[in-house]
Amino acid sequence: MRSLIFAIVVSVLGLPVVSIAAEEIVVYSARKEHLVKPLFDEFEKETGVTIKYITDKAGPLLQRLKAEGKRSPADLLITVDAGNLWHAANEGVLQPVKSELLDQKVPAHLRDPEDRWFGVTIRARTIVYNTDNVADGELTTYEDLASEKWKDRLCLRTSKKVYNQSLVAMMISRHGEEKAAEIVSGWVNNLALPPFSNDTKTIQAVQSGQCDVAIVNTYYFGRLEDKGESRGAALFWPNQETSGVHVNISGIGLTQHAPHKETAVRFIEWMVSDKAQSMLANMNFEYPVVASVETSELVKNWGTFKSDDINLSEAGRLQSQAVRLMDRAGYKYLIIKFGSRIRGPLFYEI
Ligand code: FE
Repeated sequence: MRSLIFAIVVSVLGLPVVSIAAEEIVVYSARKEHLVKPLFDEFEKETGVTIKYITDKAGPLLQRLKAEGKRSPADLLITVDAGNLWHAANEGVLQPVKSELLDQKVPAHLRDPEDRWFGVTIRARTIVYNTDNVADGELTTYEDLASEKWKDRLCLRTSKKVYNQSLVAMMISRHGEEKAAEIVSGWVNNLALPPFSNDTKTIQAVQSGQCDVAIVNTYYFGRLEDKGESRGAALFWPNQETSGVHVNISGIGLTQHAPHKETAVRFIEWMVSDKAQSMLANMNFEYPVVASVETSELVKNWGTFKSDDINLSEAGRLQSQAVRLMDRAGYKYLIIKFGSRIRGPLFYEI
């Protein structure tokens, strides 16, 4: 009763009641600490709400949420790639958030049609090319990278990475399975080297001329550029006459059993505020999801592009189909021949 009277007195005086309440929320983040902590600190500073968090990979966090069930202390899940967010929603660990603000600020194709996750940044998965070995006008589309002219000139990251699974899933969504399979087989035929374990190594292979073109996320190129280490490579925006560049998101969702639902929703909405969007845009060379917020100077220099606007939930819905398709195309496994002393081919997971 005393605290109620205190709250009334404080609110009559026009002081923020929120700041005296010991509010807190708990975040499970698959994004690394240095990419989320500054946002948590700023939100705490603005609202007085304490944010507790753990970071881990998306898979273990999802398992943890499932295992904890109703007893989970988590209010929010932060992760990258719509494929991961879709999976979390599909596993029942996220709940819908009805918010006019989020509907208005997050473009429809970058959020769950059932409102269980929302994009907060955009990353483009585009073409990077060797500036000496690729002629003007040679590059056109993702689909064209399957054509004969790129034989032994293409590099790709492993198909195990969700980024490529989402890219292929979106191609299935647009072209149908048969055509998508043709394209992926063409890519595999054109590989100059076995697939790489990460995007940075893939870009470096392009820079060194081991391959002429590759498909990577823009911020990896941005990180190299920021360190002055992008020499010999440049980004290209494909499919400008057709479907647009494949984009994906980092995003957030409210957990199914969030103990602090209202405050957690407030944080999601805060993530699309100008302040948070600007911080996000400057932290990792990504694009803010709110179009009116400026990108970083470095990103601005890459120019503008048309992006694919098919709803990203397709990346999740068609993910397992995409994985099977890549397996069939020989993208996931490479046969390494070690000579005649070893009987039969060895399958080496990459
Ligand atoms: Fe990444």
